[in-house]
Amino acid sequence: MIRSLKGTYDILPDESWRWQALEAQLHDFMSIYGYKEIRTPAFEKTELFSRGVGEETDIVSKEMYTWLDGGKTNLTLKPELTAPVVRAYIQHNLGALSPVTKLYYMDALFRRERPQKGRQRQFHQFGVEALGTPFPEADAEVIAIAYEFMVSLGITNLKLKLNSIGSGQCRDSYKDALKEYLSPHVQELSETSRLRFETNPLRILDTKIEHEIVLLVKAPDILDFLTEEDETHFSEVRELLDGMKIPYVLDKRMVRGLDYYTRTTFEITSSALGSQDALCGGGRYDKLVETLGGKSTPAVGFAAGVERLLIALDEIGKTEEPSKTDIYFVGLGDQARKAGIKLVHDLRKQGYKSNYDLVRRSMKAQMREANKSGARILLILGDQELENNQIQIKDLENSQQMTINLDELKNHLYKLEL
Ligand code: AMP
Repeated sequence: MIRSLKGTYDILPDESWRWQALEAQLHDFMSIYGYKEIRTPAFEKTELFSRGVGEETDIVSKEMYTWLDGGKTNLTLKPELTAPVVRAYIQHNLGALSPVTKLYYMDALFRRERPQKGRQRQFHQFGVEALGTPFPEADAEVIAIAYEFMVSLGITNLKLKLNSIGSGQCRDSYKDALKEYLSPHVQELSETSRLRFETNPLRILDTKIEHEIVLLVKAPDILDFLTEEDETHFSEVRELLDGMKIPYVLDKRMVRGLDYYTRTTFEITSSALGSQDALCGGGRYDKLVETLGGKSTPAVGFAAGVERLLIALDEIGKTEEPSKTDIYFVGLGDQARKAGIKLVHDLRKQGYKSNYDLVRRSMKAQMREANKSGARILLILGDQELENNQIQIKDLENSQQMTINLDELKNHLYKLEL
């Protein structure tokens, strides 16, 4: 038997309704905030990610599914969504249509990671990107979307962590200060952190290793290196969040994994999740559009893991499937069954979620199926009733059963307000 690959999984029918519900809510929510959906291809030129995300990041250096296509072009299954969205923004000159372009997406991503709960090789993210404005209003709006969407789903125990990593120039001086602080301790660092010490020392702050966390307690603070403009920007973001009553905690060690961030960075975690507790991450990325060949365009966005949201909802017990059937038809005898098929066809055209038995089972088996379907109304038709132009209708909500004229069925159902 051929099985699915490690780190991938099927969304089975008793699970897919949850995805549909989340997607429907996402589309509604985003239209309230005035964001429009964008969909980009599943694969892109590898260069888009190595340039856009950064050669030194885990994603690019270790996790991409890359191949040489036709022996000529280096292609990659998309491991993140901001770079493709920015590529499309530049390619289609979306910035010319309006000063701010507000986009959202929900899509599958691919990373060759070690699979575990909440960490797959094919997974899904939704997110937003607001391109074209350097102002803190955009940061605050994007953070509000991330936070309020999770609240609207019913996810509890949210923690919004906020930081600013400044703009290019102050980050360079901070990197130097951090390196200076860490240099007497390089031998105590893990292999990963030693590598990061050379390539991107800021990323050492992401460490989950206990003795490194302790070592970093006395490390210089990035907030002390912010320029005056960076500081003003950050305090305005906080003021706007306070005004919207969005609770956050400052986390000066949070730098996020990707190279393209500038100024605001944020992350939302939920204690409903286990060790993989990050639901969403984002921030401002004022240099990315330019790096990918567009005009200098400030931007801010976030991406949230859909599987993680569903796990969080599971943990807090928000997983009851709404009934998918209004009416179940039970037919006894050949003529009644055929008449039932016509009847259900008409009911379906009127918009009733209706079902019947496709495998010619006994009445008992059909009744069992009807119960399982969660239908409120049972229609029971025998050959004799058919001859009399009648049908039995049972309301499972109050167990009332009656025989009515078939011509009255439509009216009768209408009154029940299914
Ligand atoms: P990132 O693009 O790495 O900033 O991740 C953003 C969000 O995507 C995280 O907060 C997680 O919720 C989710 N995520 C990242 N990697 C994975 C993965 N391998 N499997 C499932 N969800 C993931």
